[in-house]
Amino acid sequence: MNSQLTYQVNPISVGVLGFGGLGQAAMRVLAPKSEMVLAAAADKQGYVYVPGGLDAQACVAAYRDRGSVGHVEPGGVLSQRSIQDLIASAKSVQGYFLALPNLPNTFMASVVRQFIDAGWQGVLVDALKRTSAMEQIWAMGDDLKTAGITYMTGCGATPGLLTAAAVVAAQSYTEIHSVKITFGVGIANWEAYRATIREDIAHMPDYDVETARAMTDAEVEALLDRTNGILALENMEHADDLMLELAGICDRDQVTVGGIVDTRNPKKPLSTNVQVTGRTFEGKTSTHTFTLGDETSMAANVCGPAFGYLKAGLALHRRGQHGLYTAAEVMPRFVQ
Ligand code: NAD
Repeated sequence: MNSQLTYQVNPISVGVLGFGGLGQAAMRVLAPKSEMVLAAAADKQGYVYVPGGLDAQACVAAYRDRGSVGHVEPGGVLSQRSIQDLIASAKSVQGYFLALPNLPNTFMASVVRQFIDAGWQGVLVDALKRTSAMEQIWAMGDDLKTAGITYMTGCGATPGLLTAAAVVAAQSYTEIHSVKITFGVGIANWEAYRATIREDIAHMPDYDVETARAMTDAEVEALLDRTNGILALENMEHADDLMLELAGICDRDQVTVGGIVDTRNPKKPLSTNVQVTGRTFEGKTSTHTFTLGDETSMAANVCGPAFGYLKAGLALHRRGQHGLYTAAEVMPRFVQ
């Protein structure tokens, strides 16, 4: 029996931590898939676990109207320790996509520690952005390995899809000069992606993670009013640099990341792309450009890769390859 058939008979049970913009998009991405079933979700106030698969409409309605998926019946539980409680109860879940805010900058690392301390084994995937946050995860590599967890880090769009594309593009060159990532994000309403927008604000001059975290929603709105809803970001602290350095592509200071986020229009303000410049063995300098389709949303470009890497992580896990991997060293698999 080939592995495809096995998946169809017995879909992989997965969960999502965080049920905001990306968490809800993750549910929609998985809906038409037969290889994976979303059996668990958690937000700050509760969790829901249904081994046969969550009812998407009920989850979205409970989160929107009552503030938490913990209100979903059956399977919902209200809890102030939702992640810890979900880890303990969701026995069938083999992998989680961590669609959580990383506020404070140590939050994701603290969640990973909870998985290790709980003795949980399986695959974890994050879409972390900051280099300093990924360094904290990197430092836990040996602990993850000992715990029997295969951890895939930086598996969103950038870092993630674009970083992996840079690795592929780099193969034409004998020497890499620069990797330049430029993203355009268009969303109709900032409140659909609060953490993403707060974390982006943290990259602006005069702001940092702590000041952005402490901002009230009214303060975020006032800032966006001043900028006409636009966030223009350059020289961001983005872990694409660490991932490409670890993959041996180039030094981290050769990688730059910037972009424009329009929080009032779903149309992208510019086409997201990565440009990889280098020198070939014949001495020619050239640039490869990989551009994402303008019709693809941030959510599509984050959640698709996240589950592709989760599938790749499961294959590693089954082979006993535990520990930490980045999106720049493993090829994502396509979830059917
Ligand atoms: P969001 O604000 O829309 O949702 C966050 C969710 O996390 C909410 O459901 C909230 O209830 C939940 N949550 C918060 N604290 C929790 C806790 N202690 N326990 C359980 N749940 C908790 O967030 P978003 O805009 O979807 O972004 C999620 C993350 O994805 C952000 O860190 C963002 O930077 C990252 N992101 C990465 C990329 C990429 O390309 N790598 C792109 C976009 C966003």
